[in-house]
Amino acid sequence: MTPLVMVVSCRPIRFLGSFLQQGTQQASKFQLHTGTPCAAKDYYEFLVLGGGSGGITMSSRIKKKVGAGKVAIVEPSEKHFYQPIWTLVGAGAKKLSSSSRSMEKVIPSGVEWIKSRVRELDPDKNRIRIDEGKEIAYKYLIIALGIKLEFEKIKGLPEGFRYPKIGSNYSLVTVEKTWKALQGFKEGNAIFTFPNTPIKCAGAPQKIMYLADAYLRKTGKRENANIIFNTSLGAIFGVKKYAEALEEIIKARNINVNYRQNLIEVLPEKHEAVFEDLDNPGKTNVISLLSLEYLTTQFPW
Ligand SMILES: Cc1cc2nc3c(=O)[nH]c(=O)nc-3n(C[C@H](O)[C@H](O)[C@H](O)COP(=O)(O)OP(=O)(O)OC[C@H]3O[C@@H](n4cnc5c(N)ncnc54)[C@H](O)[C@@H]3O)c2cc1C
Repeated sequence: MTPLVMVVSCRPIRFLGSFLQQGTQQASKFQLHTGTPCAAKDYYEFLVLGGGSGGITMSSRIKKKVGAGKVAIVEPSEKHFYQPIWTLVGAGAKKLSSSSRSMEKVIPSGVEWIKSRVRELDPDKNRIRIDEGKEIAYKYLIIALGIKLEFEKIKGLPEGFRYPKIGSNYSLVTVEKTWKALQGFKEGNAIFTFPNTPIKCAGAPQKIMYLADAYLRKTGKRENANIIFNTSLGAIFGVKKYAEALEEIIKARNINVNYRQNLIEVLPEKHEAVFEDLDNPGKTNVISLLSLEYLTTQFPW
């Protein structure tokens, strides 16, 4: 899993000079309120960037320690998404709507919600810049901005997502396609991939694959499916004990695993996916496809 949060800096307040004075003057104008977006003050003791799983969890814990009013979350989205449910959405066991809550409802009571996008960090001066150039100073900063998906690093994507047989469980926009592809599956390759980049959840590519296998068995289509797991890694899991258990499962379920294979291109018209062999630079392998899963790379924001 990716780390959720990172405490970046904790310089003494006195370095903040005029910022702090302004903050103190303006504080009385703003009411601390449950979740409702409010205009940002100039200073917070704890500033949390991002209202995803990490940001909400941390702000709740910090609030309990330091008290309401000292913590604010900067988050532009009206909706909070609990992304682990997307595995079940891809497998048809949950609706996408079950993964979201209104941001207002998940922000801990008393924590201020600054409904804006973080534009710039200035750790030397303990401040950030948000929309419209507004600057906010902090004593402690917690960054929980998540991972940005960069499908464009794979040739043929994201435009390839127009085709019904290509999807990714990592994206809000495409996660429902997996279930549709499974329902429409008749025969051929069902390819699940693990990219050669940082990834939101290292278990997720396998989880949707096992659920797809179960669905295809249940519906009598498994005999016509060649399930392939192409992973950039050299092992099925990082911990030996669990890797051994998973290898047994893979054998029992007749899944074809290819290690050190990294997806570099999709050719939707030709129904093909191209993988580079990471141990043999320049060598590629082409596989015809049903559904591609899990393509993600990291970029801060
Ligand atoms: C399919 C799938 C299955 C998963 N399964 C599991 C699992 O079983 N177990 C598990 O532990 N983890 C799982 N994960 C991973 C888990 O969802 C993430 O680790 C977790 O969501 C990370 O939390 P986060 O707060 O760092 O980022 P996110 O939850 O992605 O939240 C980031 C927030 O930052 C906001 N943001 C982005 N840019 C800006 C900006 N410039 N300014 C202000 N706000 C911004 C976004 O709007 C978002 O609300 C899964 C993920 C996926 C996609």
